[in-house]
Amino acid sequence: MITDNIFQQFRDLIENSKQISLIAHPNPDGDALGSSLAMYHALHSFKNLRVIVPNSFPSFLEWMPGTDQIMIFDHQFRQAESFIKSSDLIICLDFNTLKRIDRIAPIIKASGAKCVLIDHHLEPDPDFDLAISNIHASSTSELVFDVIEKLGYLPQDIAAFSSCIYVGIMTDTGSFSYSCNHGRPYEITAFLVDKGLDVAHIHNLVYDTFSESRIRLLGHLLNKRMKVIPEYRAAFISLSMADQKKYNYQVGDSEGIVNYALSIQGIRLAAFFTEKPELVRVSLRSKGNLSVNLLARKYYHGGGHKNAAGGNSYNTIRKAEIEFRKILEENKVLLQNES
Ligand code: 5GP
Ligand code: MN
Repeated sequence: MITDNIFQQFRDLIENSKQISLIAHPNPDGDALGSSLAMYHALHSFKNLRVIVPNSFPSFLEWMPGTDQIMIFDHQFRQAESFIKSSDLIICLDFNTLKRIDRIAPIIKASGAKCVLIDHHLEPDPDFDLAISNIHASSTSELVFDVIEKLGYLPQDIAAFSSCIYVGIMTDTGSFSYSCNHGRPYEITAFLVDKGLDVAHIHNLVYDTFSESRIRLLGHLLNKRMKVIPEYRAAFISLSMADQKKYNYQVGDSEGIVNYALSIQGIRLAAFFTEKPELVRVSLRSKGNLSVNLLARKYYHGGGHKNAAGGNSYNTIRKAEIEFRKILEENKVLLQNES
């Protein structure tokens, strides 16, 4: 429950601040960028602020208004560090614990700035000075819209703000197919459409700009690299470093592919493994009551939402596959239950 008192405290923090860092999670997705850029567009006419992301974002989000002012921590370390250090307000968007931004966290702590969370993930860390958290929101962008509207900060020229909010809602709900069984995302969208938002155009910019190699990688993964395990109603897809090289893999190219595994009839748990030099990134998706947040926390040092979570496996990709089969065996009671 986000009380009026929380909104008031947030307003005071913004009005009293001289410099604000807006920080999104690593491997920023449509909602991480959408929520932080929307916040930037709402406040930048009267505040000195920048968006800082830990690492690169996918090229299909590069068109988003405001990406030119984003600092990428991995690439602009000194600049980003100095901006955070001299901020007196830090707003963390679309993640729930400073542990997720490991290398940035000590800089935030050393800055002595007030640290505010705006997020919709389960189990937010109680360590923030102020938390605007609602696990029932479709997206952090939905929350940012509500906060900005409530505080009276909606920009006069709303186009850039609108596009960013909409990208966040659209991408975090799989184009309004999950996490949106409440009216708010539709009300916000209706409001933005009335102000001139072109939803078909934005859908096209995000989803219809695949490179040829990205589409061919998708075909290859579905055809050759997906394993279906019907007895556990599970499936997984593995993307090795060799395949990344062969298909000229770029950041974001595997976004959404895990959902194909989940779209098979009867499958309730899907995993996507991406091999990196020192670890395997794990993306988990589920249907119904099966909580991948719990699985990600228990086995992969991660977390997320009930039906979408992620983490890391400190293994080779082959070992990660074997480990996953063991996890299925260990949790067969959960997996074989109807729901
Ligand atoms: P994805 O599979 O798309 O990378 O992530 C799915 C969801 O899980 C997102 O909401 C994301 O924020 C969350 N998530 C992904 N990786 C991690 C992680 O390493 N730790 C935590 N706590 N959450 C994660
Ligand atoms: Mn989100």
